[in-house]
Amino acid sequence: MAAPAVEGAAVTALRAVFHRVRQAAERSGRSSGDVRVVAVGKTKPVSLIQQVYDAGHRCFGENYVQEIVEKAPQLPEDITWHFIGHLQSNKVKTLLTAVPNLDMVEGVDNVKLANHLDRAVSNIGRQPLKVSVQVNTSGEESKSGVNPTDCVDLVKHVKLGCPNLEFSGLMTIGMPDYTSTPENFKTLLDCRSKVCKVLGMAESQCELSMGMSGDFELAIEMGSTNVRIGSTIFGPREYPKKK
Ligand SMILES: *Cc1c(COP(=O)(O)O)cnc(C)c1O
Repeated sequence: MAAPAVEGAAVTALRAVFHRVRQAAERSGRSSGDVRVVAVGKTKPVSLIQQVYDAGHRCFGENYVQEIVEKAPQLPEDITWHFIGHLQSNKVKTLLTAVPNLDMVEGVDNVKLANHLDRAVSNIGRQPLKVSVQVNTSGEESKSGVNPTDCVDLVKHVKLGCPNLEFSGLMTIGMPDYTSTPENFKTLLDCRSKVCKVLGMAESQCELSMGMSGDFELAIEMGSTNVRIGSTIFGPREYPKKK
């Protein structure tokens, strides 16, 4: 009944997001083509994601293993899926088996998880998996992500110790209420400088994934290459009622 109107709204919202992305890029002298929008459809039905796909979008993100494992097989194979946020090592095999078109895991925050991913890619025999390293830039205990002081070591492990993973960059959630301050994002920029200096990489080889619905324009102005946008495109999250 109400569904078609909601689905149309997601496409309209996607266009509005791209408009804002372009403006933020222009304000900071960047090209909007350098910014990738990851449309985060968590808690949203497959039909709604399909609408956004039909409008031409291809990059989607999910945050729960059980959900992406159910949804991905029902959606087109040329979607580039990003798994975003906390991933448990014991769910890696399930995730990689069910989602052959998984493009990236944003973010890896410990050596054990990196090793599990590396081994699973090798066992399955799929192409190398892109990963970003998640950094805790807000200092909240509850947040996952490595301490900024530990990010070089973890990146080094991914690059040198995980031949089946492709290091793509750094990711952060920033503030728990999704309104990051420039300080949070600055912390991630500092991590990138350190990583690139120590590992002898060009900064252009280290993507930054920061910015969500509440703060993506700031993130773009500060150099983010990936913004992960959920509720602004799909509407407020709808968690199923607990039985
Ligand atoms: C849900 C989620 C997002 C999107 O959040 P919105 O505020 O709805 O845009 C981005 N990143 C992560 C890791 C998430 O879990």
